[in-house]
Amino acid sequence: MTVFFCNNSYKYEIEAVMKLFCPLESFEFVFDGAYTGGEGTVLVSVADKLSVTAELHGKKVTREAVLCAEADRELTLCRMLYSAMSEITGVTPEWGCLTGIRPVKKVNALISQGCDRDMVYERLHEKYCIGRNKSDLSYLTAVTQKPVLDSLDPKSFSLYVAIPFCPTRCSYCSFVSHSIRSKGARELIPQYVDMLCSELSQLGEILKGKNAFCDTVYIGGGTPTSLSAVQLDKIMKTIKKSIDISRIREYTVEAGRADTITEDKLKAIRDNGATRISINPQTMQDSVLTAIGRQHTAAQFEECFALARRLGFDNINTDTIAGLPTDTLEGFKDTIDRLISMDPESITVHTLTVKRSAELFKSAESFREGYLTDNTVSRMVDYAFGALTENEYMPYYLYRQKNTVGNLENVGYAKKGKESLYNVYIMEEAQNILACGASGSTKLIDRETGKITRHFNYKFPYEYISRYEKMTAYKTEVEKFLSEQ
Ligand code: SF4
Repeated sequence: MTVFFCNNSYKYEIEAVMKLFCPLESFEFVFDGAYTGGEGTVLVSVADKLSVTAELHGKKVTREAVLCAEADRELTLCRMLYSAMSEITGVTPEWGCLTGIRPVKKVNALISQGCDRDMVYERLHEKYCIGRNKSDLSYLTAVTQKPVLDSLDPKSFSLYVAIPFCPTRCSYCSFVSHSIRSKGARELIPQYVDMLCSELSQLGEILKGKNAFCDTVYIGGGTPTSLSAVQLDKIMKTIKKSIDISRIREYTVEAGRADTITEDKLKAIRDNGATRISINPQTMQDSVLTAIGRQHTAAQFEECFALARRLGFDNINTDTIAGLPTDTLEGFKDTIDRLISMDPESITVHTLTVKRSAELFKSAESFREGYLTDNTVSRMVDYAFGALTENEYMPYYLYRQKNTVGNLENVGYAKKGKESLYNVYIMEEAQNILACGASGSTKLIDRETGKITRHFNYKFPYEYISRYEKMTAYKTEVEKFLSEQ
């Protein structure tokens, strides 16, 4: 499609709105060129009035508005485009033209101005055309996470430890994670574990004498339980030895996939102090598990869950994904219902993200535009919202990603008091994160200015191992930052 801009260059936001309706389309942008019109064109114009004309599917729709202050023009044009594209396609994305990844921040700002649930909806609808369901979801999330945010000590940090290995690669995955099926990846693991332990020890040295304390630990992946019990034990013992974790309020290990979980690994995790684990079925439909390349069944997941309970884990999260290939609305409802009946402390509902690196994106027929804008996935997440809130799981963190099916969201639901602190703090960018391991991203927040500085470790384990010295040069800046706190 070609988007023409006349007297403006609001490309970024206009493209984001177009992608709500045409997610797989590529766009050509023409600035102040001759507008030709015709099928597959959009004109965004600022003159003596604002106007948007979209021509698609044999329909031509124009919206016009008075010329407003310059600061309001971009959003006004986005609303006009949203309205025109809704009329052409018959699709009304529930988040409206709100394209940011942290909608709860906007709700928090409105609540602090004294807005209640209805007022929040009125303001968001007027400004972004947001639907009632998404406004309520954001509002409830803001209310649930407030005590978690209020309990944050500004001198605290969270420690993130990355284990970028998985048993096999799921077809929808776009993370940097290596299947340990390959000999190369398997052979890297011992070296990786050693290097990770060195980085943890180095961080421990940096932290000595600093006015900062560890509040939460999160060992994530990949699938940390791709490692052996001995390797997990080594990493967790190194954390304990290097970093003072006597004040932590939460210690999560993302156990991940049922095909990696064994009793000895769970015991190693438990005995080293983890207070929360995540066991993630993604779906309880065996045919869907096969379709996405996961080599375990729903029954295996249930066995792992029961095993974890027997071993004393009393805070278990389970992840699901709405919109997986071959899944149906009925299948997804069944997944949610079965998980609720198992009574985990939290259930996270992601929406499938189709990124370019995922195999799925390259091959699956099902990912035509019709599928991406179809409202089946929207009904899935709405069902989850209704069923979970009826069963005392409240939304407590919420974020959106680009290229998500139906432009939908990811939501963590938890029983009261079981909200993951780490998830809230990272999503709201409220706490310093010190990260170790390949793909780890350290985030330092200047308490006075709110400015966030990020330092990245190399993404791939082989780079992380071979270029460790070069990569960790930034640690001196971390040390300086912590010294000045
Ligand atoms: S388990 Fe998670 S990180 Fe690993 S391949 Fe599957 S989606 Fe990717």
